[in-house]
Parts: sequence; structure tokens; C-alpha cells
Amino acid sequence: MKVPKQIKRYCPFCKKHALMKVFISKKKNRSALKRGSKQRAKLRGENRGAGNKGRFSKPALSAWKRYNKKSSKKTDLRYKCSVCGKTVCQPEGIRTKRLELV
Ligand SMILES: [Zn+2]
Repeated sequence: MKVPKQIKRYCPFCKKHALMKVFISKKKNRSALKRGSKQRAKLRGENRGAGNKGRFSKPALSAWKRYNKKSSKKTDLRYKCSVCGKTVCQPEGIRTKRLELV
């Protein structure tokens, strides 16, 4: 998918259409040793009981990761307003194999 580097788009801060620069957001990996990650693991039914169960020393692979990896990823674009300089996220990602800023 080809995305233009600049798009005229609605800015919720200026409350009008403005020229916006398009960025691809940097992926941030969740740390495996944070307290929040253990809470999330507990919601999934993992990391119950005493000890770290090998989960936090070696990450467990989920089922879809082992068998059919998805070849396309959802886009995560950010739009920076040229008037106020604030950044707006893309409301919903689009599945695509390749993302290119033109
Ligand atoms: Zn703005």
C-alpha cells in the first residue's frame, strides 16, 4: 500500500482541515518482566501459582505463531498537524503486506 507523505485531514485540535505529515509509528515491545505483563498473563490463564513457570525466562509461543503466521500486518499511522504540531492516531488499521510512504 502506498500512502502519501502529506495528507489534508481533519484536525480535532484545530477543529478544521489542515495539512498533516504522515508517520509510521515505531513498534514498542512489551517487556516480559514488568508487573503488568504478569497481570496480563494471569488473565490468559498463565503464570498461576509459585515461581515463574518458565514463562518469564522463555516466552511461550501462542498457537497461531507456531502454525500459520499472518503475512500481512495492520498499519499504524500517525498524522502530525502542520498548524498546531499535535499528533493524531489512525482510527483503524488496514491489513497490508507492505507499507510505503510516497
Ligand atoms: Zn491542528
